[in-house]
Amino acid sequence: MQKIHPYTIKEAILLKELSFFNDHFYAPGEAQVDIEDRGYQFGDGIYEVTHVYNGKLFAFDRHLARFRRSMREMHIPITYMDEELTAIHNDLIEKSGIKSGAIYFQVTRGTAARAFPFPGRATPNLSMTIRESTPNREQQERGISLTLAEDIRWLRCDIKSLNLLGAVFAKEKAKAEGCEEALLYRKDTGLVTEGASSTFFLIKDGVVWTHPLDHLVLPGVTRAVVVEECAKELGLTVIEKTFTPEFAQKADEAFETSTSLEVTPVIKIGGKKIGSGAPGEITKKIMESFQGLIKKECFN
Ligand code: PMP
Repeated sequence: MQKIHPYTIKEAILLKELSFFNDHFYAPGEAQVDIEDRGYQFGDGIYEVTHVYNGKLFAFDRHLARFRRSMREMHIPITYMDEELTAIHNDLIEKSGIKSGAIYFQVTRGTAARAFPFPGRATPNLSMTIRESTPNREQQERGISLTLAEDIRWLRCDIKSLNLLGAVFAKEKAKAEGCEEALLYRKDTGLVTEGASSTFFLIKDGVVWTHPLDHLVLPGVTRAVVVEECAKELGLTVIEKTFTPEFAQKADEAFETSTSLEVTPVIKIGGKKIGSGAPGEITKKIMESFQGLIKKECFN
């Protein structure tokens, strides 16, 4: 079969991009997936994105734990040991030579003739790509703007599934309005859930607020690090409680967290300035604490 992207792995390494599918490494675009892979046809699979700093994985134990939980909730058999998954991630880093980048990791239920119920004997397909990238420092210094968008996603947002159309629509709205991210709210309750691909936090009178961990939000790895490590280190009170978009717009400070955003200040929501319209002081302390954790884990 003719290759669509006829790169050699050596060239892929020069391009700072390398893929893995089931048991082999591939140059970008070289790996071929069967058209009856259930991820391709149903979005029937899960994913993780992990950041690499200084050639080392950050918060990888938390990503592995969330991966296992997503797989259990999806009833997809886990056919890898944690040690194997760690080794494949580290192999990708080593072979690509990437020091600062992101690893996309996906497992689908497998390949089977198209039918809705789970196939009896499909073997899960694992695919991964590492790409060079660095967090957007300029954006972190300036802060980002959010559009408000209705949360039209399904009712199992706690699973990091491949079904991302709700986020795709919200991100497209954000882009069309010149915003960097969308803040989602449920129409039935009128309450904020999270960002389209990030966790939302606000600060009001010194208290940090974020949505509780339930079926409506993803248990973010960065969220856990901020709540369990940064807030603790700084002695901040965090409450996990729902709130309205109007309450968010009247917050003193706000920020989004994700593996790629890290901790990024929010300076505008739905056209309304947050606080003074500049990154807040408590937010900056949380950002500093988060950078300290990265340094401790990956630069020692
Ligand atoms: N919520 C949603 C809906 C997301 O897609 C993401 C990022 N994948 C997050 C939150 C943040 O999660 P993490 O901190 O683990 O990257």
